[in-house]
Amino acid sequence: MDLVFFGIQGSGKGTQAKRLAAEFGYDIFEAGGELRKIAASGSELGQTVKTYIDQGHLVPHEIIMQVVKEAVLTRPKTTKILFDGIPRDGAQMNDFNLIMKNAGRDFLCIHFLLDADAAIARILGRAKAESRADDANTEIITRRMNTFREKTMPVIQEYKKSGKVREVSAEGSVDGIYEELKKAL
Ligand code: AMP
Repeated sequence: MDLVFFGIQGSGKGTQAKRLAAEFGYDIFEAGGELRKIAASGSELGQTVKTYIDQGHLVPHEIIMQVVKEAVLTRPKTTKILFDGIPRDGAQMNDFNLIMKNAGRDFLCIHFLLDADAAIARILGRAKAESRADDANTEIITRRMNTFREKTMPVIQEYKKSGKVREVSAEGSVDGIYEELKKAL
């Protein structure tokens, strides 16, 4: 069974993903990370992607879905995938569901819960550690959080209706959250 991690920026889901992957052998697909790699490649596509990331806007649908589709199709069915940062809006959800269905892959969602103030404090800390421009500017952080609230929360609600979501509190220490995550699974 694959996993899909949801959580507001700064919820620490990326850190938890790495830990879970290391212990249980998941292959992580991190949407933001994949897009940052493309942005750094210097290609024409990369330059387009970069303008969206730098402004905190979602990268166009066709671009991200092509990356996801390729990631799913190139992995053997025996590989368990942990998706981080996809799907992020209703249109991505519809296509993601289809890609997964066609590949014969089932998934469970984890929603890491954290309030906005705590999330912002964590993101500003991460901006220093990873020197990410889109993490250092409060206006852009706010835009990304608004996108999460307005576009991604409805996706989580939709999956919740079909019983696919488990919630994990993302407050407290990395170790504490990890224990909660394992319990939820
Ligand atoms: P993240 O690392 O998840 O905070 O994502 C960083 C940036 O990558 C976002 O602000 C978007 O510009 C882009 N991005 C990440 N995931 C997606 C996605 N599923 N769809 C579109 N853009 C995305």
